[in-house]
Amino acid sequence: MHDLIETLIRPEIRELAAYHVADASGLVKLDAMENPYVWSEAITAEWLEGLRDVTLNRYPDPHGTCVQAALREAMEIPSEMGLLLGNGSDELIQMLALALARPDRTVLALEPGFVMYRMITGFIGMRYCGVPLDADDFSIDLPAVLEAIEQEQPVLIFLAYPNNPTGNRFDADDMVRIIEAAPGLVVVDEAYAPFTDRSFLGLLGDWPNLLVMRTLSKMGLAGLRLGYLVGPHAWLQQIDKVRLPYNINVLTQASVAFALRHRALLDEQALAIRAERQRLLAHLTDHFPVHAYPSEANFILFRVAPGQADAVFAGLKARGILIKNLHHAHPLLADCLRVTVGLPEENRAFLQALGACL
Ligand code: PMP
Repeated sequence: MHDLIETLIRPEIRELAAYHVADASGLVKLDAMENPYVWSEAITAEWLEGLRDVTLNRYPDPHGTCVQAALREAMEIPSEMGLLLGNGSDELIQMLALALARPDRTVLALEPGFVMYRMITGFIGMRYCGVPLDADDFSIDLPAVLEAIEQEQPVLIFLAYPNNPTGNRFDADDMVRIIEAAPGLVVVDEAYAPFTDRSFLGLLGDWPNLLVMRTLSKMGLAGLRLGYLVGPHAWLQQIDKVRLPYNINVLTQASVAFALRHRALLDEQALAIRAERQRLLAHLTDHFPVHAYPSEANFILFRVAPGQADAVFAGLKARGILIKNLHHAHPLLADCLRVTVGLPEENRAFLQALGACL
């Protein structure tokens, strides 16, 4: 069997480690950029009542019509633009790559960035080009990106706005320069849109190669797995052809429509997270010997003294707090850790534990 595995499974897949999710049992979970708020008893009861009408024997609506309508009503989607739904935005990244895939074609992204751009490109057997961000403030190194575009002629570019794991929002003029220089599609990934004031949604249509991707994951609905891609119909009609049938299950369809009727509540949560983020950032900056990077997202990247990241991460875990250790993730992230903004009491517990570890 092992010989057959060696022969059949592509070497680049054999070399990969499976996507690892840390076990958070019994820990304060501040590692995965989730929204910490759960629904009240009353809203939960209303949601469960609505699910009584869901039937499980039939396949779901293949186009998620009610989800599309709910998104159009609740989110700021330009009416002339198309909408494509994914099982999380991860699936949309995969669909985009699949639709453009050829072994000699390149996908370009900025690094450090969201790892799935590189991973999915690899799964699909395309070339990947990661262009480093500025080492000091993680801004776009525009000359480097323009040169990489010139050399690699990427068919697809991902720009996360704000960026994960650095938390900053890139300069919009730099992004425009990239969109204009790109020979292919540019996808502005706005996963963290609820926590910032700028968006490219309103600019859709200004360039024929621009798409915007969003997700409900950071709005307190990560468990539903719903991402959406917005852009000109002509693009989305093509990308839709590689979508697996029925990718949005019936429970998600029913729940998204319900959750978006409570959009005001989701917005309130995002505002609370933003306020809490500023408190957390100020505390980290004022009281600890760390360098905390300003964030437009629901997490904060911070750098500890050289060589200390593993010990700080382990120390926090021993005190019941799980964050993300990025020290080994990318050379520009040496000594860096990332904490997701949690509930006020979770953030206090994190700060207290951090104080004990430093
Ligand atoms: N884009 C970015 C920048 C992310 O950080 C994440 C998740 N952490 C995603 C996309 C994927 O989100 P999801 O699949 O949950 O929609």
